[in-house]
Amino acid sequence: NRKIVLASRPVGAPVAEDFCLQQTAVPTITEGEVLLRSVYLSLDPYMRGRMSDAKSYAEPVALGEVMVGGTVCQVEQSNHADYQKGEWVLSYSGWQDYAISNGEGLLKLGMHPTHPSYALGVMGMPGFTAYMGLLDIGKPQQGDTIVVAAATGAVGSMVGQIGKIKGCRVVGVAGGEQKCRYAKEVLGFDDCIDHKAEDFAEKLAKACEQGIDIYYENVGGKVFDAVLPLLNTGARIPLCGLISQYNATELPQGPDRMSMLMGTLLVKRIKMQGFIIFDDYADRYDEFAADMSQWLAEGKIHYREDLVQGLENAPQAFIGLLEGKNFGKRVIQTNSA
Ligand code: NDP
Repeated sequence: NRKIVLASRPVGAPVAEDFCLQQTAVPTITEGEVLLRSVYLSLDPYMRGRMSDAKSYAEPVALGEVMVGGTVCQVEQSNHADYQKGEWVLSYSGWQDYAISNGEGLLKLGMHPTHPSYALGVMGMPGFTAYMGLLDIGKPQQGDTIVVAAATGAVGSMVGQIGKIKGCRVVGVAGGEQKCRYAKEVLGFDDCIDHKAEDFAEKLAKACEQGIDIYYENVGGKVFDAVLPLLNTGARIPLCGLISQYNATELPQGPDRMSMLMGTLLVKRIKMQGFIIFDDYADRYDEFAADMSQWLAEGKIHYREDLVQGLENAPQAFIGLLEGKNFGKRVIQTNSA
């Protein structure tokens, strides 16, 4: 049984030495328990927060403890009346091969799910986040212009596609020409701007000639700087994530722009609201699942998975996720099905 534990708390960007791969015995189950064998492990930006002991909405991972994470597992052994061997479940068993569960918090995925790993992406937490943030906070109206960054990622790709379904003009922001092309040609965005381009802010302004009605915030930093002057009166900002800041050790240099931000929010009556998906919307998962499965079945949603083989590669794959090295929803295949 392999497990990856948190060896040290990163200062700035995480490095390989912050993680440690350990070998332990496969745990044994007692009455009322199941032994889960992980097949897929989700890698998500929030894990950077769990590596840090700064105050947040969730407790940090303790040093020496297994890294947390959503997993799709198969039941290997069962002493639980509701579960049978071979059945698939969505679990939160973290960066390890085996885990014991008493069934609490497991979501059944059936004996033969068509795409078991979708439960970590399009049909799971990231898809749900895109859906609730855009629809409940962004409140898209036909003809609105939506801007979303990390546009080809797990959340952003869904935000833009749902925006198109709702009749909006969607402008993505992504890192590099290949991702931008994919956003336009495959995801169907109206435009997508490379945030690494020198004239990024001008290009974004050109792509948003009618201004921005919804900015779905995933990244912060210079993308937000470019968005701020383009926001329309009455714009909405679902504040979902700030990935460009997750490795920061201090506030950015430069003039204090707080009064400019506050002034813009005031004069343009802009609504900006943060949210934490399961804390705020757990009771609305079924609504999301019904819509998303229908859109998938109708071919209205494209989903790109960035599958990395091997639990041992999770640390590097996670470090890369924070640097934009993923192309689509990053998932580790920990074991074969
Ligand atoms: P992604 O699959 O989008 O992967 C992260 C992407 O972020 C990278 O591929 C990269 O894309 C982009 N990125 C990284 N650094 C920068 C930077 N400095 N400037 C601009 N872009 C950058 O991740 P997710 O879809 O899983 O998550 C997206 C956001 O949503 C994160 O901020 C995450 O924390 C947040 N989130 C919030 C939730 C909530 O409940 N509030 C729940 C789930 C996610 P590129 O190469 O295109 O720049």
